[in-house]
Amino acid sequence: MKTIGPIIRVAVPSPLRRLFDYLPPVKCSTKLLPGMRVQVPFGRKQIVAMIVEVTDTSDIPVTQLKYINKILDQTPLLTSSLFHLLLWAADYYQHPIGEVLLHALPLLLRQGKAAEIAMVTVWELTTEGEQIENKKLRRAPKQWQVLQQLRELRKQQTKSHGFSTHELQALGINTQTLKLLKNKKLVIDKKIKQNKWIKRKALPGPHLNSEQQQAVTSVLAGCNRFTTFLVQGVTGSGKTEVYLKILQELLTSKEQALVLVPEIGLTPQMVQRFRERLGLSIGILHSNLTDQQRLQTWLAAKQGDVQIIIGTRSAIFTPFANLQTIIIDESHDISFKQWEGFKYHARDLAVRRAQLDNIPIVMGSATPSLQSLHNVNQGRFQRLTLSQRAGTAQANRFKLIDMRQQPVQEGLAHTVLQTIQQHLEQDNQILIFLNRRGYAPIVMCHQCGWIAECNRCQTSLTLHRQAQYLQCHHCGKTQTILQQCPECQHTPLSNIGIGTERVEQFLQQRFNDTIIARIDRDATRRKGSLEDKLGAVHSGATKILIGTQMLAKGHHFPNVTLVVVLNIDSGLYSADYAASERMAQLLLQVAGRAGRAEKAGEVLLQTYHPEHPLLQLLIQQGYNAFAKQALQEREKTQLPPYYYFVMLRAEAIDNNAVRIFFEEVRNLLKQTKNEVQLLGPLPAPIEKRIGRFRWQLLLSAAKRSALHRILKQYLPTIETFKSARKVRWSVDIDPVDML
Ligand code: ADP
Ligand code: ZN
Ligand code: ZN
Repeated sequence: MKTIGPIIRVAVPSPLRRLFDYLPPVKCSTKLLPGMRVQVPFGRKQIVAMIVEVTDTSDIPVTQLKYINKILDQTPLLTSSLFHLLLWAADYYQHPIGEVLLHALPLLLRQGKAAEIAMVTVWELTTEGEQIENKKLRRAPKQWQVLQQLRELRKQQTKSHGFSTHELQALGINTQTLKLLKNKKLVIDKKIKQNKWIKRKALPGPHLNSEQQQAVTSVLAGCNRFTTFLVQGVTGSGKTEVYLKILQELLTSKEQALVLVPEIGLTPQMVQRFRERLGLSIGILHSNLTDQQRLQTWLAAKQGDVQIIIGTRSAIFTPFANLQTIIIDESHDISFKQWEGFKYHARDLAVRRAQLDNIPIVMGSATPSLQSLHNVNQGRFQRLTLSQRAGTAQANRFKLIDMRQQPVQEGLAHTVLQTIQQHLEQDNQILIFLNRRGYAPIVMCHQCGWIAECNRCQTSLTLHRQAQYLQCHHCGKTQTILQQCPECQHTPLSNIGIGTERVEQFLQQRFNDTIIARIDRDATRRKGSLEDKLGAVHSGATKILIGTQMLAKGHHFPNVTLVVVLNIDSGLYSADYAASERMAQLLLQVAGRAGRAEKAGEVLLQTYHPEHPLLQLLIQQGYNAFAKQALQEREKTQLPPYYYFVMLRAEAIDNNAVRIFFEEVRNLLKQTKNEVQLLGPLPAPIEKRIGRFRWQLLLSAAKRSALHRILKQYLPTIETFKSARKVRWSVDIDPVDML
């Protein structure tokens, strides 16, 4: 029996891919609308849910429908534009809708707290307070003194409102006296919105060169509609200046922009530059905020109180009152992809958001993803090229170092050590890049072949000499260093392979009067140590800098003239089809740190495969030539962006449970053989992680629509499998990683 009458259809934070029907509260004066939060009974609990639809009928008999317990918002919490983006995302990523909608909210809102902007109390003089004479307050000298202080402040004051309790306390004025003055009606207190969104005066920027100007003009010409721009320019070519100019020209006083960046912690100078140059109010969203700070920034954007939000990937879920453009810096960066839970790609969502809002979106990169370049070729993205380095900076020279031909010490080739020596003699700085922290990645017994492994993951333990432990780089677990082999008691054990710590130690011995710094997660754990180390590089004290990924992004080291990349080979031969793309991007990003000022940079790449065709192409003809070739190979071998991928993953403590689950899934999906190809199920490349066995099944198709139709048809069935309850399983649409 159907139920007729107002039915409120809500999304709840659960892994079920469906909505739930409720009845409105009996006495309800609020008009219930999509995007509002409500509290509903669910199982034995009361939970926070979000209204998705208000309809007239339900398939559930009225006796089984429950009432909404509480209405948490008087108006929709999500703007209509963001709400529609999220509905689209839930459908596109085939992720449970409740998890998508509630994931987009700051934690405090997810927990059901009120969406209230923080208020502060400010104190102001009344007319009487301005005029009253000394003699009337003869008996209260303290009050008279405060009154005079307030009058003095008022004269200097530029603000339209009074001073906060906090500000006055800082001037030695206590709240008790203010209250006494209030009782006499000489001052009043008011609650106002906390005004932390300060604007400053904008500093002028450099005069744009003609390519930069051309890029700005093109974007502004398309500023009142959806257009996707890809600003492609090497590091240091002035992309950031282009973003700044666009924002300056585009935004009037009430308009807003979203700027997505890969990481904020590593590049505080970027935020600083936006602050100084734009003179607009700027809010920052990243993972190191308190929940209250995040909520306040989120609400300020929604209200239009703050004009620019700079944030990492999840900032794509910020509501805006009046969004005019989205800018994505380093748009190729894979940190825009969310790996856990709701697996979205912030770049792809941003493009969709711009389309829904009909606004321009600007992506910038020195090394755009092959996906983005494919979009340029298809005419979906408009490319704007910055071909030269801004100012006087010159292009870097690349050189392959053939490791097979010469002696190697602690991972460094003989000729590389000589070149380092030369650059040191010229008093230049040197950057050495190795994407592996610790001392040595393998500890092994040469007698019996035993290797120290993590007991929860299928990986070897890395030796950290300074911290004095062995650590698993997958689960983070540490254990004490062993002195002898636990199998055959042989001693000593051998440390195989090279990490940043080992390179640092070796170079320190070799160039013992040179100041060397290491920048990786271990060496920068203490708060402020990254800043200290970067400071010493900028002051010129540090001559050799050794580091991981942390160094590759965003930094400017104007006096670095030599960059050495110790091991590029893992990107050449990998199980992951995208590894070469990522290797090329990383090489150019790292190389881009050098020679940013007047001095040209030299970049040495150590390899055992100098003849590799993609590598040759990259260093001889540049990134675009590399990308063109790589795209042709992808097309031939039916890989993205020509083919569409979906990865089904599952893991469990019991390996058998995963196998049984995938057997069922495969039998179900076999029926679709003609449209969708299945690869697997196979154990994941890292087969065991934190005690769980992991398997995966890859679905691929020439048409995205076919994949989506099949997922929509079969996922609800998979959800009901008994075997699905014994594993953790997930769907990854457009996976960026095969691992
Ligand atoms: P990117 O974002 O492409 O790495 P930036 O915008 O950070 O490049 O520019 C690199 C450096 O060159 C910065 O110090 C910037 O101030 C400077 N710069 C950029 N454009 C110009 C220009 N037109 N004239 C002079 N200097 C510029
Ligand atoms: Zn042994
Ligand atoms: Zn582990």
